[in-house]
Amino acid sequence: MSDKIKKIAVLTSGGDAPGMNAGIRAVVRTALNNGISVVGVLRGYNGLIEADFKNMDKNSVSNIVNVGGTILYTARSMDFMESSGREIAYKNCIENNIDAIVVLGGDGSFRGANEFSKLGMNVIGIPATIDLDIPCTDYTIGFDTAINTAMEGVDRIRDTSTSHARCSIIEVMGRHAGYIALYTGISTGAEEILIPEKKEFAAVSSIVTRLKIAMKKGKKHYIIINAEGIGKSFEMAKEIEMATGIETRATVLGYLQRGGSPSCRDRVLASMMGVHAVQSLIDGKKNRLIVFQDGMVKDIDINDGLKMTKGLSETYIDTIFGVESK
Ligand code: ADP
Repeated sequence: MSDKIKKIAVLTSGGDAPGMNAGIRAVVRTALNNGISVVGVLRGYNGLIEADFKNMDKNSVSNIVNVGGTILYTARSMDFMESSGREIAYKNCIENNIDAIVVLGGDGSFRGANEFSKLGMNVIGIPATIDLDIPCTDYTIGFDTAINTAMEGVDRIRDTSTSHARCSIIEVMGRHAGYIALYTGISTGAEEILIPEKKEFAAVSSIVTRLKIAMKKGKKHYIIINAEGIGKSFEMAKEIEMATGIETRATVLGYLQRGGSPSCRDRVLASMMGVHAVQSLIDGKKNRLIVFQDGMVKDIDINDGLKMTKGLSETYIDTIFGVESK
């Protein structure tokens, strides 16, 4: 039996991210251009279990490179966490002559793909999450769009915050990783950036002290970017207002950070990663993660990738303190 790939499935899983469509398009077009047929799997791993497959032709991915969300829909699948669910999914793949699956998603989706590979399916992962929280890659599809959306939101709030000499707390996404908060905060010149990796900076008593000093020096606004992982923005606003007498408002940007037309960078990186994913299958590779490391798109073994850990670079912290107004 030849190992040559004849048919692949592509799916999006976990949290959606702008640029996923550009990735799907690249996977489908590259495969078709190389004589490989493609099915799209609807609603992530749920679609694998329910055999919810859709044949993808060249036109199925027309006019989506600029569209946010995912045309294949996405889901979190409890059934796929169970070996019984994965066995049904595997049977569906075999019955549909699928030789490999390409999964666009986050760390969780890659863990699911790795479990699936143990049944004998060839899996390729493409990092797509707005949180940038996958240790083995410096870039994840969707991050750039999300930070630009958050940055624009904060710029607007900053205008009104200055007019009223208010303190504003803006909560951005990032339950376990503070990258969205860091990029949003640094790019908007925020006075405070609160992230789950540095919980010690989030003590309200010390924020109050810093805020009082800043206002005494004549600052017209005080912007606090608060990552979801710290949360409690509304309570924090109340506490700060009580302690300082300065009007303090909280805004949670929420899901608007997930949507919207993908940025140029997300479209380009998603396209490069999609092409690389199919190319690695054509080259006979198995169970790989497509990553962006040292300014290049590469593929690495999925087990090696999942074992990697990443601490927060102190460069971010040095930057925050470096640009601080003293
Ligand atoms: P993300 O991919 O954005 O990190 P999740 O962590 O929710 O999102 O993972 C997406 C899906 O991947 C889960 O709903 C589940 O179906 C699957 N998955 C995650 N971890 C595992 C695991 N250890 N075993 C099997 N499937 C998993």
